[in-house]
Amino acid sequence: MTSEIPKKFRRYVVAGGGTAGWMAAATLAKIMGDQIEVTLVESDSIGTVGVGEATIPPLLSFNRMLGINEAEFMRETGATFKLGINFENWKDVGEDYFHSFGHTGKDHWTSGFQHFWLSGKARGVAESFEDYCLEVVAGLQGKFAQLPDNALNYAYHLDSGRYAKFLRKIAEDNGAVRKEGKIDHVMLDPNTGHIAALKLESGETVKADFFIDCTGFRSLLMGQALHVGYDDWSHYLPCDAAVAIQTKSVEPAKPYTRAIAHDAGWQWRIPLQHRTGNGLIYCSRYLDKDAAYERLLSNIEGETLTEPNFIRFQTGARRKQWEKNCVTLGLSAGFMEPLESTSIHLIQRAIMRFMRMLPAQVISDADVKEFNDQTFEDMDKIRDFLIMHYCVTERRDSDFWRYCASMDVPNSVRQKIDLFEKTGRVFRKNDELFAENSWIQCMMGQGIMPQSYHPIADKMRDEEIEYFLQKIKSDVDSTAAKLPSHADFIRQYCAAP
Ligand code: FAD
Repeated sequence: MTSEIPKKFRRYVVAGGGTAGWMAAATLAKIMGDQIEVTLVESDSIGTVGVGEATIPPLLSFNRMLGINEAEFMRETGATFKLGINFENWKDVGEDYFHSFGHTGKDHWTSGFQHFWLSGKARGVAESFEDYCLEVVAGLQGKFAQLPDNALNYAYHLDSGRYAKFLRKIAEDNGAVRKEGKIDHVMLDPNTGHIAALKLESGETVKADFFIDCTGFRSLLMGQALHVGYDDWSHYLPCDAAVAIQTKSVEPAKPYTRAIAHDAGWQWRIPLQHRTGNGLIYCSRYLDKDAAYERLLSNIEGETLTEPNFIRFQTGARRKQWEKNCVTLGLSAGFMEPLESTSIHLIQRAIMRFMRMLPAQVISDADVKEFNDQTFEDMDKIRDFLIMHYCVTERRDSDFWRYCASMDVPNSVRQKIDLFEKTGRVFRKNDELFAENSWIQCMMGQGIMPQSYHPIADKMRDEEIEYFLQKIKSDVDSTAAKLPSHADFIRQYCAAP
């Protein structure tokens, strides 16, 4: 018995060397080793999208899978820790809430902590819901440490250009080959319609058995060559443009992202070790490019380090994520604004899924269908979560927010909101990314207060529920008080020299 994969699926070409391309190349090369050949084609003259700095906790397991040393990775990418996102002006102007990566309070198997909190609130003994979550309290105090058993759940803010370089080294150390060159066109096999090769401007032809399209918004392979269409979701998520700029840091890095709503979208502020990332996401129907740039400049701190990066996008998903001998990842696969930092995560999920379904002798239609179904399930659920942020707003101060408050939303979103509003219940379905506590933090943060709660919460006597809530809060407070500042922790653990 030979351990070699049959010749047919030995050669993999990754088209594009942004975050998606290098994540894919590093994974394929590291996991499969010399069983396959990995070539990545990218063009320095085209460059990458140049944004994508906030992540969510599953990236830790991706990095671990690649054998990455965390402190080294953080030093190299100028990364900071992230405990969640502070949403400012989303419920209404002047009102904030924090969506953390942590868990709030303690659950009972019949019902989540929110039911006990609601019962305590009705009896006048509950503090703010956020006070019962360590990640929120530590985050807002600018504290951080790595605690045993992942008791402080975190992700990173990172410099995505540096992350791609970091991954490139891993890919190349494991045998992947980088080819500099501009793809001129994609050659199809006339009999099967499969991709046969990439023809570069230099005249060189790069052949492979399987292709991974990471060419960004251009989607040269899946979109342009294989003609796979795109589902437009902009009626649910109307923002379609961004302008990004980097600034010098003017304060110690906060361990959270800021998502600050404005009257035609929102703005991010992401603190790295060496600089701050800023960007304004907006809907071009309600704000033009110049006004967007002016608005961004009026709400940044510190000297600007870069020219503005103007980006147009269409929210949605490519209708097939795997077609013939091609899988698409990253921006070429679809786009949802970075409101919950989910794009790099979707790349990670799709790569891991593809690794489980690597073709052997033939491409199985069943694999292709399964891959597409699972990927759409991921995307749809994230889309629903993002829509919720907009549609439950109490803001009515601009045409943009009036549109969001009155737009039609998918039934799946409406059902989740209605259920919570009436009963306080949220159910996580099919391993969806955002679990109960995420929906609860955001829905409550946006002002949805359930009309009732599980009867089991009233089983606790007044003094019991008071003690229960107080004990959780005092544990959170005393743990947060002992944590070092985020800046001190970084200095000791992984500061760039
Ligand atoms: P790109 O970075 O665009 O890379 C495309 C690659 O293809 C490049 O190497 C390019 O040279 C190559 N290429 C293209 N055409 C050719 C050609 N003809 N020949 C050769 N090479 C070619 N994600 C997050 O997770 N968190 C965030 O906070 C976040 N913020 C974002 C903010 C904005 C405004 C935008 C637009 C996106 C954001 N994202 C974020 C998404 C994230 O930036 C992307 O998912 C990620 O960078 C992957 O991009 P990519 O590799 O698919 O595309």
